[in-house]
Amino acid sequence: MTSIDKHFQEYFASVDKAGDDRCYLCRRTSSDVKTFFGFNEDGTPVNADEYGIEDVVLYKLDIMSYKGTRPVCAVCQLNFETIFMAGDHDCVEQVMREIENERDKLWPMDKRRDPDESSAPEE
Ligand SMILES: [Zn+2]
Repeated sequence: MTSIDKHFQEYFASVDKAGDDRCYLCRRTSSDVKTFFGFNEDGTPVNADEYGIEDVVLYKLDIMSYKGTRPVCAVCQLNFETIFMAGDHDCVEQVMREIENERDKLWPMDKRRDPDESSAPEE
């Protein structure tokens, strides 16, 4: 099997399990990740002339990994590496539990107001 064949096999296996071609954790598409890092769809930098980085090219393999259980984007890889380097494994688990079980605490409905409503005088 060539490396291209292997790459596509990993890609389709991962995307098939995830249901679509987005990061399993943050739902970003490859295009979203490129935009996040300041690159155009073709992998060339946005405003390259302005920053003097016209020689920098973002490769497809730098955007999304399909080698694991689910697709994972480079943004989440970097974010989680930072969390794990800080030794915050327990905190990640706690945050996951809060997201799963404490939605009302995280996103209280009574605190939400229409922006127009908040500027209106109370009666
Ligand atoms: Zn992600």
